[in-house]
Amino acid sequence: MPAYHHPLASKLPTVGTTIFTVMSRLAAEHHAINLSQGFPDFDCAPELRALLAKYVNAGFNQYAPMAGILPLREAIAAKVEALYGTSYDPEHEVTVVPGATYAIFTAVAALVRPGDEVLLFEPAYDSYAPAVEVAGARPQYVQLRYPDYSIDWDAVQRAITPRTRMMIINTPNNPTATVLSGEDLRMLEGILRATGIVVVSDEVYEHIVFDGHRHQSVASFPGLAERSIVVSSFGKTYHVTGWKVGYALAPRELMAEFRKVHQFNAFVTNSPVQYALAEYMQNRDAYLSLAAFYQKKRDYFLEGVGASRFRPLPSRGTFFQNLCYDAVSDERDTDLAIRLTRERGIASIPVSVFYREPPAHRVLRFCFAKSEDTLARGAEILCRL
Ligand code: PMP
Ligand code: GLN
Repeated sequence: MPAYHHPLASKLPTVGTTIFTVMSRLAAEHHAINLSQGFPDFDCAPELRALLAKYVNAGFNQYAPMAGILPLREAIAAKVEALYGTSYDPEHEVTVVPGATYAIFTAVAALVRPGDEVLLFEPAYDSYAPAVEVAGARPQYVQLRYPDYSIDWDAVQRAITPRTRMMIINTPNNPTATVLSGEDLRMLEGILRATGIVVVSDEVYEHIVFDGHRHQSVASFPGLAERSIVVSSFGKTYHVTGWKVGYALAPRELMAEFRKVHQFNAFVTNSPVQYALAEYMQNRDAYLSLAAFYQKKRDYFLEGVGASRFRPLPSRGTFFQNLCYDAVSDERDTDLAIRLTRERGIASIPVSVFYREPPAHRVLRFCFAKSEDTLARGAEILCRL
């Protein structure tokens, strides 16, 4: 292939390959236990696999409607109303999309203009800033307070300028494993009341909240729901990260703009997967039991690392456990994560990659969406360090 010779002003000059790809590849190369990238090492429910096969074999293999098949939009709206008390109209306010990452990118592309500012919290999930930059806008950051990763709402108030067009929030949060409280969302509601700022609320871990707490969705707060695009993903909820199907919810004025971009990008989402999910969603227990399922895994992993020199930070939601390694090493987290993968056979994610400038604290993120055998072997390695 001949090379491209012309000047190429990259729209994302500092972006390389994502840390998830880098660490999973390194783990595979070194046959390491992979607790880095967030995905289950166990399969989804056999019923869900059978439903997908059923719809593929029954010929549901052509384009779905642009917004998603109606039975799935209805099932999503019914679930959201039952859990968060807000009614979204499946016709105009619910859209099925190829994953949450896509939904976030689409929301930014549809609503953010060059020169706008978008408020992010740091550490920030890695896809947020590039989505903002491709749109020609500027990310502005508010730091979460270490070690509890709480939000300083006064700092948020101060960070808002007349150029702030959007804010992206994420609860339960990746990579910090924290959750926002009802009080947090009331603070946010108050701060945004007099503004036209749109909130993109990444709630892909909505069903994975621990210790008896409830997920607080922006959908439950009228002053937030009226300005928010809520994003979720079936990948986390049903152990099918490879299916890449999620959804967005928003008031119809915002959703109309979202769909304008969606219809010229993916246009539609995989049809048979949507039919399978619509039928599977009738089983409420599958998502209502998810928190207990993952809490057990969190506790199993915590028990396993209890005798190690790593210090666990609280994991209140998601399927991630952060471990502070102050007592283990003074290496940079990026160096340590690579060395542990190569030399000790365990892969994790260095949390500093979610910051622009590496912070002083030393934390690695471990994914516990794994079988007990994998978690036990991982914990055993950590105990020897
Ligand atoms: N947001 C967060 C916070 C995530 O952790 C992930 C992936 N795990 C996504 C979005 C992307 O979800 P999807 O695979 O549906 O694009
Ligand atoms: N969200 C997953 C994680 O945080 C990975 C998704 C991806 O690889 N882009 O590990």
